[in-house]
Amino acid sequence: MPAFPRFSIQGLRNKILYCSVLYTLAALLIVSAVSTWPLLRGMRRFEENNLLHAVQIRTLAVEEYLNSIQEITLQIGSRSQLRRALNHYAQGRWTLDELREFSDLRMDEARQASNTVRGLIRLSVDGNIVAQNGLYPTIDRDPEIFSQLTRPMAETHLVDPFVLQGELVLAVVNPILSFEGVQIGQDIVIFSTAKLQRILWDKSGMGKTGESFLGKTIQNHAVLFFPGRKGEEEAYNLSNQSPLLKKAFGLSAAGRTGVKRVEPSENGEGVVIAHTPVAGTAWGLVLTMDEREFMAPLRNQFVSLAGSVLLLTALGAFGMGATLRPMTGRVLVYARELDDLNRDLQQEVKERQTAENNLRRSENQWEQTFEAIADAVAIVDSKGQILKMNRAASTLVRELGSAYPGHDGRDLLFDSRQFRDDCSLEQLLREKEPRCCERTTPSSERFFHVSLYPLIDHANEIWGGVYVTHEITERKKMERAKDEMISAVSHEMRTPLTAILGFVEFMLDNEVEREQQIDFLRTVLQETERLNELISNFLDLQRLQAEIDQYRFAPLKICPLLEQAVNQFRVTSPKHTLRAECPPELPAANADARRIMQVIKNLLSNAVKYSPQGGEIVCAARREGKMLLMSVRDQGMGIALAERERIFEQFYRIDDSEKRIPGGIGLGLALVREVVRAHGGRVWLESEVGVGSTFYFSLPIAVDEQGESAPEQ
Ligand code: ADP
Repeated sequence: MPAFPRFSIQGLRNKILYCSVLYTLAALLIVSAVSTWPLLRGMRRFEENNLLHAVQIRTLAVEEYLNSIQEITLQIGSRSQLRRALNHYAQGRWTLDELREFSDLRMDEARQASNTVRGLIRLSVDGNIVAQNGLYPTIDRDPEIFSQLTRPMAETHLVDPFVLQGELVLAVVNPILSFEGVQIGQDIVIFSTAKLQRILWDKSGMGKTGESFLGKTIQNHAVLFFPGRKGEEEAYNLSNQSPLLKKAFGLSAAGRTGVKRVEPSENGEGVVIAHTPVAGTAWGLVLTMDEREFMAPLRNQFVSLAGSVLLLTALGAFGMGATLRPMTGRVLVYARELDDLNRDLQQEVKERQTAENNLRRSENQWEQTFEAIADAVAIVDSKGQILKMNRAASTLVRELGSAYPGHDGRDLLFDSRQFRDDCSLEQLLREKEPRCCERTTPSSERFFHVSLYPLIDHANEIWGGVYVTHEITERKKMERAKDEMISAVSHEMRTPLTAILGFVEFMLDNEVEREQQIDFLRTVLQETERLNELISNFLDLQRLQAEIDQYRFAPLKICPLLEQAVNQFRVTSPKHTLRAECPPELPAANADARRIMQVIKNLLSNAVKYSPQGGEIVCAARREGKMLLMSVRDQGMGIALAERERIFEQFYRIDDSEKRIPGGIGLGLALVREVVRAHGGRVWLESEVGVGSTFYFSLPIAVDEQGESAPEQ
């Protein structure tokens, strides 16, 4: 039987739980990752924008300041009286001294109008210093700077910061035009860079590591106008080799604003920079911040986000577990019930299978037994309909059907309508008890013993019957033969007894003469001998079959025996001519003399008995190889071919309805065969009905110790 698949419910439940929790975790993680990634990117953008914003604010402040100093410069240059005086000098109407005298005081006023102006130099159109205020000693002492500043400029120009008298200053060079638009002089206004430095050194919004740098690239070098941090190093306009700043200033000079991450430096820290150009200059403003600090809020954000995600995930998993647990618990209960049911079912199926197998085996046994029964068995229902027959019954029915035209065989044995005997189905149905009877074929050739048993259902109701039919033809024949034998024996015995009784009574009741007495007594003797022979035959046959070892074998002269028997019968059978034919020097037979005499007498008695018309009876003997062959020939009624084997059976007599056969009991030939077989010989016959019969029997020749045939004694 294929086993039902078994699985662990607990295991299944755990798997469901684990899988659900895992799937929930995975789903939450994926969702978190998908949603967190843009968030983090957005946050990074935000941080970058913050940095960019910081650099742009500073740039705006720087630009505003630069605008303001340019504005101041322009205002100084636009003073009309001074311009007129310059024009007078340019046209040659005033001398340089007149101009200087006129300008000096007024220029000082102009300088003092703005507290951010640190110094002022005015040049005439021919390059002479007209006025010089503020910074002392004057810058003309530094020829390099001076030459740079005094170079004629076509328009207002901001000069990069430079160091003057130990102070970092800015200068705005402004050409002064006449009212007609002709250049008549040039102002060099010097401003302090303190404000610029204040703007840049203001650390607000830049964290701890943030620094801002103002500068530009000159000939592939980054030049810082002043240190990135207050008090760090009081060096100005330093050329800086930092590739980072170089790149940043380069980008600014190219007019680009942006944020950039720079690879980790030697100390292993990355830097984030924001750069922007300062409008109207070649300057750039750069803001740097350590990547770690820059990333700190991001990292914090990430940590808190990840924490939330994990918390959420854990809560989700827990929630899923908590939701699934009771559900799977129910599943577990159902599954257990199912498992129990399954087990019960398996048990039931197994039991049924066993029962089915047993049933099949018992059915098989029953079927085989049914078929093996030698008696004809037929099962009929309550209406007499045949439901089943075994092999013997089918064969018998077939035989009867073909032997008796007009019958199908069944009707002769099992058809209840055909019989009104003791084992009819009606009686069985009525009395519910097993029945038995004998049935015979129409011409009473075959006989059957029929038993009929009831078939009873659960409700104790009879629903049919079983016929068991046993053929008893042979037994019947035996019985008949026995009956006949008994009547024959009694008849055969009674005849001589009647004669004996009659003669003896007559002699007792009457005076009988001596001669007649002898005559009577001879008859009594003959009848007594006949009776004796009859009884001996009967008893001998019974004894012979059991006592073969009590034979007394010895070399036996057969001829004297034949002659003796012939002589005896010659006396009692005057109608027949009896003679013995014996060749001389016939070897002796190895035989029991008394038994062989009985054989010869039986054969002679039959020859006489079954040739009632008389005739010749010859008793002969001759040698045939190692055997002696004896024969008894008569000229009697002969024996039909069909009877020649059977006449040797016990009690078998040829049925002669014409009653022409004298009495007998069918034992004579059976005895002959027994005796001859016990000697190692055989018996057979030749016959022709109405002509006569010859019975032969053979006996082994007696052999002496030298292996020679023993002569007759
Ligand atoms: P019984 O003679 O007592 O009937 P047997 O066994 O001697 O029994 O013989 C059996 C039968 O064989 C006889 O009934 C008879 O019909 C037949 N039979 C025997 N011998 C002869 C014979 N010589 N001629 C014709 N029939 C014979």
